[in-house]
Amino acid sequence: MSDRETIMTDTKTIQQQDHAHYLHPFTDHQALGRKGARVMVRGEGIYLWDSEGNKILDGMSGLWCVAVGYGRTSISKAVYEQMETLPFYNSFFNTTNVPAVRLAARLSQLAPEGFNHVFFTGSGSEANDTNVRMVRRYWDLMGFKERHVIISRHNSYHGSTMAGASLGGMSGMHEQGGLPIPGIVHIGQPNYYDDGVGLTPDEFGLRAASWLEAKILEVGPDKVAAFIGEPVQGAGGVIIPPDSYWPEIRRICDKYGILLIADEVITGFGRLGRWFASEPYKPDLITFAKGVTSGYVPLGGVLVGSRVADVLIGQGGDFNHGFTYSGHPVACAAALENLRIIEDEGLVERVANDTGPYLKHAFGALADHALVGTAETCGFVAGLNLVKRKAENVHYQVRFDPALGVGMLCRAHMFNTGIIMRAVGDRMIIAPPLVMTHAQIDEMVALIRRALDLTLEEVRGRGWL
Ligand code: PMP
Repeated sequence: MSDRETIMTDTKTIQQQDHAHYLHPFTDHQALGRKGARVMVRGEGIYLWDSEGNKILDGMSGLWCVAVGYGRTSISKAVYEQMETLPFYNSFFNTTNVPAVRLAARLSQLAPEGFNHVFFTGSGSEANDTNVRMVRRYWDLMGFKERHVIISRHNSYHGSTMAGASLGGMSGMHEQGGLPIPGIVHIGQPNYYDDGVGLTPDEFGLRAASWLEAKILEVGPDKVAAFIGEPVQGAGGVIIPPDSYWPEIRRICDKYGILLIADEVITGFGRLGRWFASEPYKPDLITFAKGVTSGYVPLGGVLVGSRVADVLIGQGGDFNHGFTYSGHPVACAAALENLRIIEDEGLVERVANDTGPYLKHAFGALADHALVGTAETCGFVAGLNLVKRKAENVHYQVRFDPALGVGMLCRAHMFNTGIIMRAVGDRMIIAPPLVMTHAQIDEMVALIRRALDLTLEEVRGRGWL
């Protein structure tokens, strides 16, 4: 048996066992069983290898998380050493552990001014559940027990737990399991491409922010606890709001005394060229996960600003909330080393001043492709729209019938060409590792262009153009 056959047999066995036993997140199990899952076996830098030996450039940083790239041995060493020293202890019952304390202190240094406290969780979803409980607790302590409603946005993503999926605005998730839970309501998203017809981006940003005020008035200002949003919507399709949007949201929150929660699970730790993208509009709470450990070990949490922390600590007594893995020493050790790498390699500054602008230029050039309506970046996230007919004004572009699934077709061509790009409808998105060099950005964009050419060929062949 040749090496290749050995690998093939191995892949098949794994795929069969996968189908027999492993229920994947957000997956049609039967459909996956028919084609078999791709088995990832190794990662190094910005590349992955599957069990068939294919090398793939990971344009999605795993799932928006592997900021420092794969195979960083200093993180594995930190994890190993921590496991040898103290693999676990909880932070309940008046105990703590050294990595958790050090990480909390480090995050307080990196966070915007006024953020001196951290609540650790195991994931972004748990962190958003924590937000729901924390803001409601805050208003209870303030003597406003009616203020429990949280406003979020359609097509946002805040996690998959009951509260996380309720905060999120994904209709497909709400349809399953009777969501949203009570006390969570939604407004429109700042999607200029879909909804900004006849307006400049800044006019549209103000209009989209005004939907928050309208919702506050509809619910009753004395009932609203908080507004939550991702600085740039990630899973919803890398939707970059106009510049006018967030300052106006902050102004409206201030006007009604409402807490502002920035969900920075994707955007935190340098992805948009700042440690925290929301810093300029001063949120009260910040959700984080993913990039804090570059995904090497699960960890999430909430950075708690002084407005909430002072009340919670000053007059709160017990906050009856927490997880076995809150402040997990191994996860915190991984995070400390990951943050050291981000800082020592100047990744945040590189995204802001060097590789981010370079990506903007290189990725933006894809807009000349026959299938591409718009191609835009924000730091190290980017998206392009596949269109049937291009036009200077985005609102005059003609889109494909969504039922054709052109985005999914394109995604398959990307994968087969050796680049991971995600499809959200007909919008193709990336969030590459922050360690990318100029040459690697060029390589990625060339792969994307090749896959777009193959998609165009197939779309033409099928008579869809
Ligand atoms: N918030 C945002 C903005 C996210 O993108 C995600 C995950 N993609 C989450 C929350 C949930 O994080 P997790 O999957 O770690 O629970």
